[in-house]
Amino acid sequence: MSSEHPVLVIGAGISGATMANLIATKLDRKVLVIDRKDHIAGNCYDYRDDNGIMIHKYGSHIFHTSNDDVWRFLRQFTGFNTYMHKVIALIDGIETTIPFNFNTIRDVFPGELADRLESKLLEKFQYNRKIPIMEFGNQDDPDLKFLADYVYEKVFLHYTTKQWGTSPEGVDGAVTARVPVYLSRDDRYFQDTYQGIPLEGYTTMIERMLDHPNIEVSLNTEASSLNLDDYEHVFHCGAIDEHMDYRFGALPYRSVYFEFEEYDMEHYLPNAVVNYPCNYDFTRVHEYKYYLNDQSPRTVIAKEYSEFFEPGRNERYYPIPGRENTELYDRYLEASRERSNIHFLGRLGDYRYYDMDKAVLRAMDLFEEVFE
Ligand code: UDP
Repeated sequence: MSSEHPVLVIGAGISGATMANLIATKLDRKVLVIDRKDHIAGNCYDYRDDNGIMIHKYGSHIFHTSNDDVWRFLRQFTGFNTYMHKVIALIDGIETTIPFNFNTIRDVFPGELADRLESKLLEKFQYNRKIPIMEFGNQDDPDLKFLADYVYEKVFLHYTTKQWGTSPEGVDGAVTARVPVYLSRDDRYFQDTYQGIPLEGYTTMIERMLDHPNIEVSLNTEASSLNLDDYEHVFHCGAIDEHMDYRFGALPYRSVYFEFEEYDMEHYLPNAVVNYPCNYDFTRVHEYKYYLNDQSPRTVIAKEYSEFFEPGRNERYYPIPGRENTELYDRYLEASRERSNIHFLGRLGDYRYYDMDKAVLRAMDLFEEVFE
């Protein structure tokens, strides 16, 4: 290969940075990392504002994993605090816990009804079980049917319609299953072994992943400005449909946008994230200073709204899981093999709803697959 940089990574987010780091450190090979954005870290990007508050520009990112390899890998680049994410939802004017659990039952129902629902649930299901809402609906008992309908309506129906533009029936079951009904008193959003926020933020963590003599980073750089044949391997973390000039039609994505507001007060919300499954056009509100316990007399919040992705107008955030879209993706993947040196990864490259740890794991696995 006649190239100064035999390996190219497209995308400087967490997937691309993991791949570049592994190639640079384990293989001692040169890597060029490009990104069309003017910053590294992709949608994990964060920065400190004038108040000293760490802002997650593309919405709250909470790291959580049960995978020892991923945890060990990332801790080379950063420490994490012991923040364990909890989400409050406003249901019928009551601030309560999401995922819907036994504590939520106590918060939203009168004591006698809560007692009855709790004992009927424990008769039928094992304590600590997580039940996707689309399964939970199948109840014969009238009290449990009432509960299932209540949770569907008050937690999932409107939130999912705002987030995905369709009711829970219209989205892949795996999406709503991310936030199950949880037969527990554990109020945390995630139950993973390791959880936390990088102490100096995600951008610094990713900067350190990319800080290696073998790695060159070029921002504001489009993949189309390079000749991909110049590289022995191309690891592509961007959208496969765009890469192939949308020849089979566009893959759909959801996008989100944020309205930022600043207040002269210590805290605006009781919690880092409050979901509004019954009210407003936004899905949730983030208050960033909670994540690293930033001290400031002022605070910054971001109201999150969802919309469809439109090229040139907004950003891709979420692939939309489902059979039809997976088939279209597979068609693109098959066609992309006409170029033997290209490998796709990441939320966009794989068209998969990865959490950050799964994105890192995917990059680690692909590295092994290609080079070992
Ligand atoms: N969801 C919901 N109500 C909630 C929280 C989540 O209906 O209060 C559903 C919704 O469809 C959402 C999905 O569960 O898109 C996954 O939620 P999660 O918080 O995992 O989404 P993310 O943080 O990845 O945007």
